[in-house]
Amino acid sequence: MEDCIFCKIASGAIPSSKVYEDAEVLAFDDIHPMAPIHVVVIPKRHIPTLMDVTTGDAKTLVAMFKAAQEVARSKGVAEKGFRVVINCNKDGGQVVFHLHMHVLGGKKLKDGLA
Ligand code: 5GP
Ligand code: ZN
Repeated sequence: MEDCIFCKIASGAIPSSKVYEDAEVLAFDDIHPMAPIHVVVIPKRHIPTLMDVTTGDAKTLVAMFKAAQEVARSKGVAEKGFRVVINCNKDGGQVVFHLHMHVLGGKKLKDGLA
């Protein structure tokens, strides 16, 4: 996807502060952190939204969850705890239409989700 900012980050065309990478996924620090730790986990392959996920994406989804584990360990919050958020479409607050997880932590996060 030539106009997708996260595809450009995945290809290295736009630089990012890499936290974790494997064949399927990339994790990098969010440019506008909402918590002391705020990492974005993306599949390298373009999937627009959660609503576009299919059974065929199973390997990629597991890789995203494993990446979140690695991020939590490397950032030192695996035991203390953290939050994973996926925004979907307009009311969900999705701004970048390339599937991603937010991994948030490093402080006691606010109770409640909305
Ligand atoms: P969304 O609102 O779509 O769930 O989240 C998109 C996230 O991507 C936002 O938290 C935003 O700060 C982050 N973001 C957008 N552009 C860039 C960028 O060029 N580099 C990095 N590191 N993060 C970005
Ligand atoms: Zn993309």
